[in-house]
Amino acid sequence: MPQLENEHLMHVNQIEPTSEYQKNHPSSPILKNFEEYKTLYNESIENPTEFYGRIARKELDWIKDFDVTKYPLTGFNTSWFLNGEINASYNCVDRHAFKNPDKPAIVYEADEPGEGRIVTYGELLAEVSQLAQVLTELGVKKGDTVAVYLPMIPEAIATILAIVRIGAVHSVVFAGFSSGSLRDRINDADSRVVITTDESKRGGKSIETKKIVDEALKECPNVRNVIVVKRTGNKSVPFIEGRDVWYHEELPKYKTYTPPVPVNSEDTLFLLYTSGSTGKPKGIQHTTAGYLLNALLTTKYTFDVNQQDVFFTAGDIGWITGHTYVVYGPLAVGATTVVFEGTPAYPNFSRYWEIVDKYKVTQFYVAPTALRLLKRAGDHFIEKYDLSSLRVLGSVGEPIAAEVWEWYYEKIGRGRCTIQDTYWQTENGSHLIAPLAGITPMKPGSASLPFFGINPAIVDPVSGQELKGNNVEGVLCIKASWPSMTRSIWKDYSRYLDTYFNPYPGYFFTGDGGARDSDGFYWVLGRVDDVVNVSGHRLSTAEIEAAILENPNVAENAVVGFADELTGQAVAAFVSLKRKDLSEDQISLAKKELTQTVRKEIGPFAAPKLVLIVDDLPKTRSGKIMRRILRKVLAHEEDQLGDISTLSNPEAVTQIISSVQATR
Ligand code: ATP
Ligand code: MG
Repeated sequence: MPQLENEHLMHVNQIEPTSEYQKNHPSSPILKNFEEYKTLYNESIENPTEFYGRIARKELDWIKDFDVTKYPLTGFNTSWFLNGEINASYNCVDRHAFKNPDKPAIVYEADEPGEGRIVTYGELLAEVSQLAQVLTELGVKKGDTVAVYLPMIPEAIATILAIVRIGAVHSVVFAGFSSGSLRDRINDADSRVVITTDESKRGGKSIETKKIVDEALKECPNVRNVIVVKRTGNKSVPFIEGRDVWYHEELPKYKTYTPPVPVNSEDTLFLLYTSGSTGKPKGIQHTTAGYLLNALLTTKYTFDVNQQDVFFTAGDIGWITGHTYVVYGPLAVGATTVVFEGTPAYPNFSRYWEIVDKYKVTQFYVAPTALRLLKRAGDHFIEKYDLSSLRVLGSVGEPIAAEVWEWYYEKIGRGRCTIQDTYWQTENGSHLIAPLAGITPMKPGSASLPFFGINPAIVDPVSGQELKGNNVEGVLCIKASWPSMTRSIWKDYSRYLDTYFNPYPGYFFTGDGGARDSDGFYWVLGRVDDVVNVSGHRLSTAEIEAAILENPNVAENAVVGFADELTGQAVAAFVSLKRKDLSEDQISLAKKELTQTVRKEIGPFAAPKLVLIVDDLPKTRSGKIMRRILRKVLAHEEDQLGDISTLSNPEAVTQIISSVQATR
């Protein structure tokens, strides 16, 4: 059996969900116990047609029933619920509005504390209907793409749902992207209409959203119209007569109900570009029924979201997390979703906790990068808030180190909440591997067990053979299709095959390293491209980073390999410290200590040969560390950084280049 190189990571105790979780449950937990999960999981793998056929009919409202649950050809066939007809906006809005029109669908917390509003399901139905007619009037037809460049405001949710109500396709572009990135995404997706704001507000600052759109549109010949939401009302914002229309002027011209347009299960719901951590962003194409079903199921089962819950996903609609867990999941369930426009640091580091307290949030979901920031800020920002409404805490986007997991569990969850470390990708549409709230035992740092219908395989990267049994490590693949998996990369099906299916024939390749421990729990070890090979040991960046983070001086760090004559590769750690005012001596002591920690925790072979103290690490706009930049800089290839259009802090790269050069 292959050796587990990264065993250290997996030596943590299993934490059972507290019995209080089930006892104090406000309604009834979605599953009774772990056994029930196992039974359903086994059925979902052994008989996906029966499992998904039943659950899709129960959970979604269909306009026309499907007649084939899963495309029957052998091989990696990715079509589901064939010949069914459905509308996603109906499932997210109408069916709840009919029963419960006054129930809050959206709780909007504006950038400025104290500002915001509540939108009920009834109001949302009216807004979605009116906007759907505006779009139709502007010539948008079924299958056309509409670009959304909006901040986190209720109109963004209404926009997404209005687009899909008429069978059109949305392509949301994170409203922090530059005009060049926006232009490329508009042109690649062939969007005909753009929806934006006059300006937006984030962290107390105004952003000139409309000006960025105007700049981008200079090179987007196919865009006919721009719909502008008035967010700040700044009079100096340019308005191009004939092309631009105001959202608040157009909507009232139309009646408050228009029927949803039936679309085929396999019609495209949206396009979304990936974060670009590993290269040029991919235009991921998701289809309607399968995506919607898994968005709903994971919201319900992973996070235990019921209709009376208030679900706060602190992620932007510009990323898949926002699509699935701000918009589609919670609304398909009929819960209340929190739409937060601001940042965790404005006006201070208490902002999230203030929101949780104010709206009695029951599920909170965020990325480790925000948790590291808040942990570093200090616990006094948390203490005065009542967080007792919380039941479930989620994490997404990067591995969460045990250190941070424990802080989240103790300080935010106060030992009462369950933690869902959810592993998934833009391509997957919804969780692949995640513990179910109150059901699955937790292990800090492990995403635990697969969701229904997900059949993971650990594959040997050299032979391409699946490694069976427990205590195995390799690359993480998935064995069969599931409803919410991407059907293509937009207009590039061959890149789709090359990226996901050709590397390991017979499997969907995630691009991440993974291990299955002695209990059958899964560990994500970081990107395959990031694996460091020291004297034949394949070390996971996630593991070394987690060890370094145990040092109390460290705020964040990223580990990459660089060429070494003796060992093939050596480990380099880029570290940002909590305090920026340490003396030279204190810094060199901190470096020694953290090298010591890695030696002790993992072994001498994993100890970083190079430790560089930096102010900040290069990150994508979705908050992920771009390790490939660090690798390039160490390899003297700073002139070949590749696509860095999704980088959020270019100044960090400049500092890293000069600190690396100083070591030569
Ligand atoms: P690109 O594909 O363009 O390089 P990206 O992979 O960062 O960008 P996303 O789809 O936003 O784009 O991120 C998915 C990746 O995030 C996963 O492949 C994995 O590396 C990482 N990830 C997400 N959730 C987790 C998690 N819970 N634990 C560990 N890693 C995670
Ligand atoms: Mg990726």
